[in-house]
Amino acid sequence: MTALSSIAALIVAAGRGARVGGAIPKQYRIVADKTVLAHTLAAFGAVESIDRIVTVIHPDDSAEYETAARKSTVTEQRLASAFGGTSRQASVRLGLEALANAGFPADGLVLIHDAARPFASEALLSRAILAAARHGAAIPVLPVPDTLAIVDSEGRLAGNHDRAMARTVQTPQAFRFELILGAHRRAAADGRESFTDDASLAAAYGTTVHTFAGDAALFKITEERDFLRAEHHLSPLARETRTGIGYDVHAFTEGDHVWLGGVRIPHSHALLGHSDADPVLHAITDALLGTIGDGDIGMHFPPSDEKWRGAASHLFLADAARRVTQRGGRIVSVDCTVVCEAPKVGPHRAVLQAEIGRILRLSAERVGVKATTSERLGFTGRREGIAAIAIASVAF
Ligand code: MG
Repeated sequence: MTALSSIAALIVAAGRGARVGGAIPKQYRIVADKTVLAHTLAAFGAVESIDRIVTVIHPDDSAEYETAARKSTVTEQRLASAFGGTSRQASVRLGLEALANAGFPADGLVLIHDAARPFASEALLSRAILAAARHGAAIPVLPVPDTLAIVDSEGRLAGNHDRAMARTVQTPQAFRFELILGAHRRAAADGRESFTDDASLAAAYGTTVHTFAGDAALFKITEERDFLRAEHHLSPLARETRTGIGYDVHAFTEGDHVWLGGVRIPHSHALLGHSDADPVLHAITDALLGTIGDGDIGMHFPPSDEKWRGAASHLFLADAARRVTQRGGRIVSVDCTVVCEAPKVGPHRAVLQAEIGRILRLSAERVGVKATTSERLGFTGRREGIAAIAIASVAF
């Protein structure tokens, strides 16, 4: 290649990460020892031909940025920051203006990248640079493996999209500097502020945007579970299995049936409780919550709340499973032991396994249901109530 033009990276990190919970913007959350932004900076720093890396930050995040810059181990001379605006589009424009003010040449190349995509490989960045040098504007894309459906506002199928022509779009989007700076200035002057990426903005101002092969490993951290995926990407051996325990007791009262494992079992008594008093589902619910350190059933569904009076306990269990899944967990198995003199649980074992499995979407072989008496000792031995103990195993 002839004398290479100047190459800059513009890392967009000014967002507040509203889509992921927690007070810390996602680009400043830790993944394997350093922040997402530090990983992103390190990825761009690994390509020596990128001579400057400008990060567009929120004015409140200066200290966090400095820490990320230090942790990235990219030399200070190659790094700079600029304050962003109220939208992604405004932030990119302010970053481009900062480059212009610093004397970045009009025929230089700029790679505009989302901070929340930490895993840009050297191969991908090389493709971006080559494509921008050749075409002036180019974006990384991936084919769409699934059929694409168009749905109406009611969620009904309203047509299909031709998958062969569809692509998902990633960053960095790569441009000749004067071209993208000019397009952003014109968009700002026209008061057009709703472009979600730079390629569509450039295209709206007459630029032909080319594409190059993206990288599936360059996923964007959007949801909570993406942080776990990022951890696994960096250290595949970091996968872990966690175990939680749960224990519950309900006393007998007058009645003609009990609820155990979501199954109505005829009996000489009922169990007393605010909800349907199902000790098996309550114990399993607590076991699941235990794997994510997320309190207990009484915290999420307080007995003081009238809303849960007589509630079916499968609601509690399904909610715990949802919390586990939301944090990236996959329930591997649950197991429980029911302690009582009566009713006999054995004859209902298969039904309990099927019902618990239905609630948790587990096959019956992943659901243990066992029963024992306490040899007439203690409160269960005196037929005063039923106890249940449970354990859950969750892979992360
Ligand atoms: Mg209970």
